[in-house]
Amino acid sequence: MSNATTQTWSNWSGHVRAEPQLIADELSDLARTAPGPVRVAGAGHSFTPLVKSEGTILSMERFEGLVSHDSERHQARVRAGTRLGPLMHILQGIGQGLPNMGDIDRQAIGGALGTATHGSGPTLGAYHTQLETVQIVDGQGRLHDFNRAGDLDMVHAMGVALGAFGILTEVTMNNVPTYRLRRRKSVLPIADMLRDFETMMAAHRSAEFYYIPFSGYAQFIASDLSDAATTTRPTEDDEAGLATLRRLRTALAWLPSLRRRLILGAIAKLPAEDYVQDWLNVYASDRQTKFNEMEYHLPFEEGPKALAEIIELTEKRFAEVYFPMEVRTVALDEFWLSPFYNRLTCSIAIHHDAASDPRRFMRAAEPIFRRYGGRPHWGKMHSLKAADLKKLYPRWDDAMAVRRDIDPENRFVSPYMAGLFGIEP
Ligand SMILES: Cc1cc2nc3c(=O)[nH]c(=O)nc-3n(C[C@H](O)[C@H](O)[C@H](O)COP(=O)(O)OP(=O)(O)OC[C@H]3O[C@@H](n4cnc5c(N)ncnc54)[C@H](O)[C@@H]3O)c2cc1C
Repeated sequence: MSNATTQTWSNWSGHVRAEPQLIADELSDLARTAPGPVRVAGAGHSFTPLVKSEGTILSMERFEGLVSHDSERHQARVRAGTRLGPLMHILQGIGQGLPNMGDIDRQAIGGALGTATHGSGPTLGAYHTQLETVQIVDGQGRLHDFNRAGDLDMVHAMGVALGAFGILTEVTMNNVPTYRLRRRKSVLPIADMLRDFETMMAAHRSAEFYYIPFSGYAQFIASDLSDAATTTRPTEDDEAGLATLRRLRTALAWLPSLRRRLILGAIAKLPAEDYVQDWLNVYASDRQTKFNEMEYHLPFEEGPKALAEIIELTEKRFAEVYFPMEVRTVALDEFWLSPFYNRLTCSIAIHHDAASDPRRFMRAAEPIFRRYGGRPHWGKMHSLKAADLKKLYPRWDDAMAVRRDIDPENRFVSPYMAGLFGIEP
């Protein structure tokens, strides 16, 4: 029925480790009988201990692939363990595209939905906003199908569910016809970017920027629909750029003006980027250098002020930081545990090399994000517990009531989830 092992489970960055009694990879009555807590694993790309369990970690790797599709409505029903990389190709093959994507394509769709994973664009929602139906196995092993037409509240309650509202088995996504994007990159002073933030971020279908610490400059990336013929996507230079930033950090951490001058020299050599490609060849990058990350979702208009403070903090006190800070926008939605609930969002992400402890940096930055009304990315480092979260989510109590019905015996509640949701262990 299942493969019982005593192996160690760890997340992508190696920061979260678990030694569960069972790492299970088949779904039958495991929800009911496996040693608890039962935590479902996607691709292990979250930075918080969402998947950690001393009981059972349920791998959804074998629950993958297309179940059915509707060409007229551009809908596709897929198994929840399907990774985004293969999903893109499945969709392209049936004439459909994901309207937007984040930085990588390694996550499972169930995992991406579970933490409100998102890309950038003021009118583009996170993956969960594409949900038409969700199928789950509840804490008592029963199968439920919910759809927008009949059960909108249930779809809104469990579209972002952190693996605590049952095991997601299949989802139907509302996609779009395949499309092409023109993607352009440019470099500009961060002062200009902060000043023109609202217009620049709103002027494109998708816009984002990376602030390069200790440089005073940002790299702006804009993508828009295009009917032009495809051109070659330039070879990815992110890893080489990171290696340069790390070298300068290590050699010159305490010589900030020289560090800045050399970073500017490296930025000046960045090749201009302007290409047209099919949607599935545009969004994802390869992330080789391991890092840990915090990302907060703020009211859109607060973004520039919060970022200016984060930059000041970093450059005054954290010379070890070299990863660019990523700034994106996300459309508002109506999902109860979505960090984008009812507000257009500016998301700011900070990163710390996984080779050293990120906590001092994260602890110093978090109060700034919180002061501006930030809601943490569920899958990235934060210290919030139920009492704080309840204040940030207007439908919190409703979501918790649905969760109790789905999982009355708290089968999916690990100590970490208990702290997050305010559940007595
Ligand atoms: C290099 C890197 C780049 C990233 N880029 C982005 C980005 O651009 N945008 C962004 O928003 N985030 C980004 N993230 C964060 C990442 O998208 C989220 O943490 C996401 O949840 C990870 O997906 P996963 O499949 O690895 O899920 P996991 O981390 O394995 O699980 C995440 C949550 O989903 C639950 N879950 C997974 N599958 C199921 C299922 N079938 N049923 C029920 N619950 C389930 C788990 O229990 C857990 O609570 C990035 C992370 C990394 C490491």
